[in-house]
Amino acid sequence: MKEIMNALAVARPKKRLFLGLLLASEFFLALALYGAWLICCPGLANIFEYLPAVVGALLIFVSTFSFGAVCNMVLAVKGLPTLKLFHRYTFALIRILFPVAVRLGKIVGIKRRQIEGSFVAVSNLIFLKSRIKVPAKKLLVLSPHCLQLSSCPHKITRDPNNCKRCGGCNVGDLMKLADEMGFTFFVATGGTLARQVVMKQRPQAVLAIACERDLMSGIQDVYPLPAVGVLNIRPNGPCYNTRVDMEEVKRVLAQIVISD
Ligand code: SF4
Repeated sequence: MKEIMNALAVARPKKRLFLGLLLASEFFLALALYGAWLICCPGLANIFEYLPAVVGALLIFVSTFSFGAVCNMVLAVKGLPTLKLFHRYTFALIRILFPVAVRLGKIVGIKRRQIEGSFVAVSNLIFLKSRIKVPAKKLLVLSPHCLQLSSCPHKITRDPNNCKRCGGCNVGDLMKLADEMGFTFFVATGGTLARQVVMKQRPQAVLAIACERDLMSGIQDVYPLPAVGVLNIRPNGPCYNTRVDMEEVKRVLAQIVISD
């Protein structure tokens, strides 16, 4: 298990980066809500005597609940017991807090991509610590189109079986692995197609290969379906002749696939 975690963390931003920024965002958002409440108090009191107290109580509840959800993520990362109550709200909260986290990160010189990468590391850790196991035929492996060699003439986006496994890119390696292990492999040209494939295949888990940005949105999009991400390698820049570390893919597969 430790080896897998380390493999997923290689050259990745630290998990505490995302969690720290999320907590800081939470704090600033609560502060902003408090400021707005203070400003609105006289107006609210004019409408109804107890309205400031009601609105204040509501804001305290929202702030406490969202703080609890972030703390729940910290517990999950540490492998400690978590409250299921928070699980379904976690990604909704991330969607709200992420823009704040990006702005805070910018102030201290942290790039958006680093924060997204840190999110993927956190999400992967939670996935692996949940010890999710699925039979190979219930696993969907998704890769981006940029993994295909740009000069390859074969159309693999609708049917990856058109790949001739020539060894020119990792699509062939993934196809070979899919044949050996029995999981479904699909090359998606974008988020919409990826979502369609998930709807059609109805897998029990997804292993997605993509860049930080696409993994971040993809993992949230398929929730509550468990998804683990493997970052692609971009020796030629983004979205062009990308690669994936097949050893890393195999290590993650070994961790989550069980024999039928
Ligand atoms: S491995 Fe498949 S997709 Fe990649 S270049 Fe060869 S035929 Fe094309």
